Parts: sequence; structure tokens; C-alpha cells
Amino acid sequence: MTIERVAIIGLGLLGGSLGLALRDCLPEVVTTGYDADPAVRLRAQERQLVGTVCGSATEAVAAADLVVLCVPVGAMAQAARDIAADLPAHAIISDVGSSKLSVARVLAEALPDHIVIPAHPVAGTEQSGPEAGFATLFRHRWCILTPAPNAPEAAVAALTTLWEALGAKVERMDAAHHDLVLAVTSHIPHLIAYTIVGTASDLEDVTQSEVIKYSAGGFRDFTRIAASDPTMWRDVFLSNREAVLEVLGRFSEDLTALQRAIRNGDGEQLFDLFTRTREIRRSIIEQGQDDARPDFGRGSVAD
Ligand code: NAP
Repeated sequence: MTIERVAIIGLGLLGGSLGLALRDCLPEVVTTGYDADPAVRLRAQERQLVGTVCGSATEAVAAADLVVLCVPVGAMAQAARDIAADLPAHAIISDVGSSKLSVARVLAEALPDHIVIPAHPVAGTEQSGPEAGFATLFRHRWCILTPAPNAPEAAVAALTTLWEALGAKVERMDAAHHDLVLAVTSHIPHLIAYTIVGTASDLEDVTQSEVIKYSAGGFRDFTRIAASDPTMWRDVFLSNREAVLEVLGRFSEDLTALQRAIRNGDGEQLFDLFTRTREIRRSIIEQGQDDARPDFGRGSVAD
């Protein structure tokens, strides 16, 4: 099974980056694209995010071997329904959504006769929209495929080969396990960032201008995450509700234990935890998942 024509639905950060990465890494692949927002379609045309920006989703997918839905998770069902009638019978349907169980379910419901292989490139930034995409977004990043057990092996292999050609490292995972892992590594950290930035701006005894003026490394790094797209993240929490609530329960217990340690002056407990977490940061750097330079290499070191 070879993928010669790729249709991208949704031309924001992920869709635009996918189009640009295909153009750079697999120039022989023909790309078409569609976005529900006319202004995004115009900008996508100007930036040449895909070979042809189409006026409708059905036109974009009409000759596709692979369709990748790059819309917010809450829009996946509608995007799949929009293309159902005009999709070539052989086409593989995939996506880039940040949660997988719910997306797999809505895609299978909307396209029961097609090969559906959900995917999640674990790559992104806090930016969104057609301006934000760049060709190297997926390089050295993981792309997790969550095919159903009965997905044809040749189709999974073809999709794997495509993502690897874009520089990604591909792993297969059960969809429920993906949702739990990503709840820990991505979704809860975003929730914490949204909470701490919200709390800081609501404090009565510390003014907003003081929060901004004295924003040291810790708070500033949270604000980067808390600037992430509101639509995308609303949809992530609503669609990955079970896993997020499960991990959040555990997190709340651990936070209460820390609260008790601080109240009791238990420095040993604090020191032990902080030593363990520092090791995790070391492992992330050793595995090439982040920049080892102070302050992420931004050049200004704050506390
Ligand atoms: P984005 O920049 O906001 O782009 C999404 C685009 O899809 C928007 O232009 C949106 O238009 C359009 N759209 C919405 N519904 C549509 C429909 N039914 N048909 C066609 N276009 C539609 O979002 P993104 O950051 O690329 O995220 C896209 C997906 O990637 C999400 O599922 C997200 O979970 C996943 N993801 C994101 C990241 C990240 O870091 N951002 C990382 C990995 C995976 P409107 O704005 O008009 O709705």
C-alpha cells in the first residue's frame, strides 16, 4: 500500500506543519487541504501549506489515499461526517488529535466502511493557526498510532513509513493506555498551568502588574503553557475526561501530602521528592527530549 495523495482537513498548527513537512520530506506526494475558516484557507494558500487549498472538504479528499483530520478533538466527528460520502473506498483515515479513545470511536461511527488509524504526533507549541506551522515540527518527536486490533497491517505500515519519513519516531499503543499516559505527561500539566496562572491573576493582595513585573522562571514557564489554544484544550479535557480525572485524583492526594509536609516542617520529605524529580528532568535531557541549557537556552536566566 503506497500513499501518493494526502488530504489534510484543518490547516492550523498541526495541519500546516504536516503539509510543509510533506512538501520538504516527501515532495512526490500530492497534497490537498481544506479548513472551515475562509481566512485560514487564504493564509494557507499564501504560505503554500499544501499543494492545493480546496473550497470544500469533499473536494480535498476526492482522490486521497490518506486523509488526516487536523481539527480540534471536538470537531472530529463533524469533519468525518463532512467527507463520508465522497471518500475513496481505499482511503486510510487518520488524525492528529491529542486524545485517542473518543476520537477512535467517533471516526469509526462516521466512517464504518473505511480503514481508520488514529494517531497523535506528540509535537506542538502553544501557538495555533495557519501562521504557526513549520516543516520540522515532527522531527525527533514521537508519533503514537492507536490502530484497532483488526486494522489492516499494510495500512498501519504505510502510515508508519509516512510519519517516519517526516522525521518522527513511531510507536503503537492501545488507545486507552495512550489517554492515560498523555493525561500524566501533557493534559494534567496543562491543567496545572491554567490553574496557577488563573490563581495568580485572581489574588487580591498581589496586583496583576506585580505578577507580570516579577514573573520569574517558574511562573513565566507556566504562562507559556497557559497561553495554549483554548478551543483545543477545552476539547482535550472533555474528550479525555476519565483518564484526566483518574490522574487528577492521584495528583490531589500527592499535593495534600506535600501541603502536610510543609505544614509539619518535614524538610526530608520535600528534599526526597525534589531529588527524585530532578532525576526525571535529567532523563528527559539524556533522551534528547529537551534542551539541557539553562532556561531552555533562551539566553536569560531567571530564578
Ligand atoms: P489549530 O491551529 O486551531 O487548527 C485547527 C483548524 O481546524 C482551525 O483553523 C479550525 O478552524 C479548523 N477546523 C475546525 N473544525 C473544522 C472542520 N470541521 N473542518 C475543517 N476545519 C476545521 O489547532 P492545532 O493546534 O493544529 O490542533 C489540531 C489538532 O491537533 C487537535 O485535535 C489537537 O488536539 C491536536 N494536537 C495539537 C497539538 C498542539 O500542540 N497544538 C499537538 C499535538 C496534537 P476554526 O478556528 O475556524 O475552528
